[in-house]
Amino acid sequence: MADAELKASLPIAVIMFGSPGSGKGTQSKYLVAWLGIPQISTGDMLRDHIRRGTEIGQSIRALMRSGTLVPDELVNKLVEDRITQPDCGRGFILDGYPRTTAQAKEMMRLLARAGAGEVVIHLVVDYNIIISRMNGRRVCPKCGTLYNAVSRPPKTEGICDLDGEALVIREDDREEVVRERLTQYDAQTWPVIEYFRNSGARLFDVDASKDRPEVVFGRIQKLLEGGLSATRKDDPLRTPGEGALAQ
Ligand SMILES: [Zn+2]
Repeated sequence: MADAELKASLPIAVIMFGSPGSGKGTQSKYLVAWLGIPQISTGDMLRDHIRRGTEIGQSIRALMRSGTLVPDELVNKLVEDRITQPDCGRGFILDGYPRTTAQAKEMMRLLARAGAGEVVIHLVVDYNIIISRMNGRRVCPKCGTLYNAVSRPPKTEGICDLDGEALVIREDDREEVVRERLTQYDAQTWPVIEYFRNSGARLFDVDASKDRPEVVFGRIQKLLEGGLSATRKDDPLRTPGEGALAQ
């Protein structure tokens, strides 16, 4: 029991996976508010380094110019530096990391060293539903207002409520573009999901196809509470950790 109790008192790393259109960004925001732990986006960190013109930022910029992917070691280092900050002492939410199996292995090693427990949330969506949802999106080219044939239709079909402009389909919402992004997501993500599945990580598939975001979030909350309370009596997510990740 000592082992289980120890594990439950550790900081928690919530790793979010979800395809374009799965609502991953919304669910991550809900988790931040609920758990009171920071969300860490590697994309944001890379952009921040570039913006601040740091040494790392300059090398990232050079890599991007030459069309080279940012190496795993660099991304891993950024994540390691970030998760050892004091505000990550009780845990953190990872968004966009790990992206490769090599990154996933390094992350598990980092978490083990920091004594953090992982929970992988995989938002599973029916791609046909995503495609039809995005198919219904329209934007006003004049004022930028977004419409959706199902969830937010204009008063007159194809016309902006505010200025009467004819609505258009954004390039990103075109079916062939959406399909291509989903295919890329699958190719990149499945090996990482499989790695987690086979490595005995706590991985939860959450159906996020049809229900409203609040309903999907309710599912995530139940899973997190259930998955963690199995190892302790009180609410582990609300218990301040020992700051094991902070240096
Ligand atoms: Zn308009």
